[in-house]
Amino acid sequence: MNWLNPPAPPPCDDSAPAAVRGARLPAWLLPQDWPRDPALRNAPALARIELADGRIARVKPEPPGAVEAPDTVPAWNAHGAPVLPGLVEAHTHLDKAFTLGRMGTVRPGLLGAIDALIEDRARWTDADIRARATRGLQWAWQAGTTHLRTHVDWFNGAMPPPAWGVLSALAHEWRGRLGVELAALAPLRFFADAAQAGELARQAASTGPHARLGGFVHTSNWDAGALRHLVMAAAEAGIDLDLHVDEELEPGAQGLATIARLARETGFTGRIVCGHVCALAAMPESQALAVLDAVARAPITLVSLPVTNLLLQDAVTHRTPRQRGITLVKEARARGIPLLFASDNVQDPFCRTGSLDPVETMAIATWAAQLDAPFDTWSDSICRGDWLQRQPAARPTLEGAPADLVIFPDADATGWPSRTARRQVLRAGRWLQTAVPAAADTADAPAPA
Ligand SMILES: [Zn+2]
Repeated sequence: MNWLNPPAPPPCDDSAPAAVRGARLPAWLLPQDWPRDPALRNAPALARIELADGRIARVKPEPPGAVEAPDTVPAWNAHGAPVLPGLVEAHTHLDKAFTLGRMGTVRPGLLGAIDALIEDRARWTDADIRARATRGLQWAWQAGTTHLRTHVDWFNGAMPPPAWGVLSALAHEWRGRLGVELAALAPLRFFADAAQAGELARQAASTGPHARLGGFVHTSNWDAGALRHLVMAAAEAGIDLDLHVDEELEPGAQGLATIARLARETGFTGRIVCGHVCALAAMPESQALAVLDAVARAPITLVSLPVTNLLLQDAVTHRTPRQRGITLVKEARARGIPLLFASDNVQDPFCRTGSLDPVETMAIATWAAQLDAPFDTWSDSICRGDWLQRQPAARPTLEGAPADLVIFPDADATGWPSRTARRQVLRAGRWLQTAVPAAADTADAPAPA
């Protein structure tokens, strides 16, 4: 396929099962009194998910041994396969995606990648941005993603860049298939002047409720006054924040601690998403934990980007990295801080690989951060889109939600996210025909009934 001229997303299959039975749902998605099944080594009992009018009407445990019994309605049997709700891509950069292939040599590390990107920007016509971003949206959609947030570089002060308009149009076009949100990614110096900070926040907010204000907060550009202007401008414009914070291994990085303090001092009522926060891993432990204690008291969600951080932190040519840049995900979770994993850059100078597949990101996080029970405990980190919003749910539930499910027929809950290439995806209760990545073997795929 020529990805510069991608086809329109394919239509959904017409068949709509009345139920998905034999579904192994993750423990985090089930009520606390959900029964355990001794036959499954005391894992959560399999679920019967009843669907109606494109939504999930009811979720109930299957009686032990009943999964293979005949059904009275057209039901699709997952036979115990892991099942998740629609996936969330919490942090990516569709304006930059798929640019690496046309670049020359890129200097290793974050700052080298930024230089290469600035050079490539001369080629960013509307058509170029649209073609690359559409490819990314299609990949995300095929992976089973229902919600995606992309950052967009703002490099002309308060003036929105061309990519902002292109991606806003794409967000509108993809409505109903993929909820797309945009976050303005501006250098911190653009907020040094309070009036310009206000104008930037108003410009971003005027785009619509799918827009967020953001910035790049790093020791190399540290300006506490500008950061205060940024937070206050967002509060005045009524726009939530999504920031790149402390993407470095500098123990003295002050971004996250300052944002947590500003949120409290200004009484910020929106949601503040802080991505990366790698510097926590380089700080003395007591200092890092004190920062996380402050974060837990603020309306802050953390997003860990393990792929790019593994690639960019401690990156020196011809030298094996010693520090890995994974932030303190377990310590954050222990404090009740909402934490998501996301892809970040895809096939651009910041990250040569990537597929906009949250499950691939989850696999890398599992290995890099040594996560226990990734399916039952951690898979919420690629599903809880509400953690990006102002009022996250107290407890997630499938009942009443759109019938968006991702089924992993080759996997089991113990080994997940291994063997997850093949997927059956339900969208609003209907099978998505192109859910299976092209490289996967589909010869023995169970046919939707
Ligand atoms: Zn990013």
